[in-house]
Amino acid sequence: MYSIEWQKRGLPHAHILVWLINKITPDQIDQIISAEIPDKHIDPNLFDVVTKNMIHGPCGAFNNNSSCMSDGKCTKRYPRKLVSDTITGNDGYPLYRRRSVEDGGKSVVLKVRNIDIEVDNRWIVPYFTTAFKDLQSTH
Ligand SMILES: [Zn+2]
Repeated sequence: MYSIEWQKRGLPHAHILVWLINKITPDQIDQIISAEIPDKHIDPNLFDVVTKNMIHGPCGAFNNNSSCMSDGKCTKRYPRKLVSDTITGNDGYPLYRRRSVEDGGKSVVLKVRNIDIEVDNRWIVPYFTTAFKDLQSTH
């Protein structure tokens, strides 16, 4: 099931709900969905797409006037917690792996209101990885 929405700037995006016949494990989730900055040298195209389109905000201390902010808090719950492994929670929502730079995660320097800031995996919106194609063809 999916629905397509348009943001204010006219960028369409889809909310997708997928039912699986067999339960998948957290490490299998990592092959399908990532909430991390890709390695620039391993997959430069994915790196470009993710760093251009899949970084939330940055809001909060970097930009308190961001449209996601309400009462000094990000309504989308960013920045998210850094976690070394994907965890499946009791509410059915996984806590996606977001490794710290010390743990091998990547970071990228962005200009926000003309100031260079370092963005790490705490700000990455989860996305389908290209590995999803491989999974489709083998199952
Ligand atoms: Zn926010």
